[in-house]
Amino acid sequence: MGFSAYTEGLTGYYIGIYIMVFLFGITIGSFLNVCIYRLPTGESLTKKNSHCMTCGTPIKWYDLVPVFSWLFLRGKCRACGSKISGRYILVESLTGILFVLTFIGFDVIVDGLLYPALLCLFIAGLIVIGFEDYDTQQMTVGVLLYLAAVAAVTRMLTTLLPKAARGCDVTATDGLIGMFAVSVPFLIFGFVLTPLIYSLFVSEDSKAARKIKKRLAKMSGNDKERAKLQKELDRHLSEIKKTGPVYGFGMGDIILMAAGGLMYGWKAAAVAAFTAIILGALYALVLRIKASRSDSEAVKAFAFGPFLTVGLVFASFFGTSLMDLYIDFITVPSIPTM
Ligand SMILES: [Zn+2]
Repeated sequence: MGFSAYTEGLTGYYIGIYIMVFLFGITIGSFLNVCIYRLPTGESLTKKNSHCMTCGTPIKWYDLVPVFSWLFLRGKCRACGSKISGRYILVESLTGILFVLTFIGFDVIVDGLLYPALLCLFIAGLIVIGFEDYDTQQMTVGVLLYLAAVAAVTRMLTTLLPKAARGCDVTATDGLIGMFAVSVPFLIFGFVLTPLIYSLFVSEDSKAARKIKKRLAKMSGNDKERAKLQKELDRHLSEIKKTGPVYGFGMGDIILMAAGGLMYGWKAAAVAAFTAIILGALYALVLRIKASRSDSEAVKAFAFGPFLTVGLVFASFFGTSLMDLYIDFITVPSIPTM
């Protein structure tokens, strides 16, 4: 960050670039909104006709200006006055802000535009995956492939054309190690440890509870038998509640972290995973407390993807430097010899 001596006196020039990047970012953000809503249902992305979700009135072009139209209309449809989801302006402004922050991290005159532009392409995919997974608990294969492709192209370009991407401090080796650094532990955890833990501790009660529920549903009359079964069911359910939900990683999470590792290098990938796990654990704790206060039988599983994407975006800015700080911290300083 900061302006180098070489580019001093060009502050206005930089601010101009940031404004352009922001406007470009919010425009991309408005396309990302379309992706987030249409990709999970398999709708076409190129199909135009944007219309009000409530009254169906087609939206005029001047009401489709990213961020500004929403603000101007105060989040309401011009035709019927019904509320327009705040999600639109959230995704648009988030994209714009993250793009600008990415560019602020580089001196575009000295380092060139290539690397920050590639980072923005990756962040755009992360935004789509994060919201998609939050909404549907699923990630679209196409977006995962897009992220993997951007990461692969980035590593190739930064390796082959180091002069065009001077701002990049991730080497090809960092990227290749990063590809496996988090994804492989996730794979082992998700497909070996979790099923093992589940079969050892949880499944007996879940199986029993399911059986009893079925029997209760089939039963008619016979109150004594019913009460007995209900008591047994309550016992199993409280046992499940004690163990809590089982958290696993899906294939999407694994591919996401492989792409993230290739893009940002192993240092940032590790920081991303760590950030995601802390945030996810805090969220799980909140869900747990909420569930213990209500009568719901068990805490619902939730998507981990949104936390991973937040972790990756965070790591995109601070990952490598945080890990370097950590490595400095745990490394014993060598004593200079005479
Ligand atoms: Zn309307």
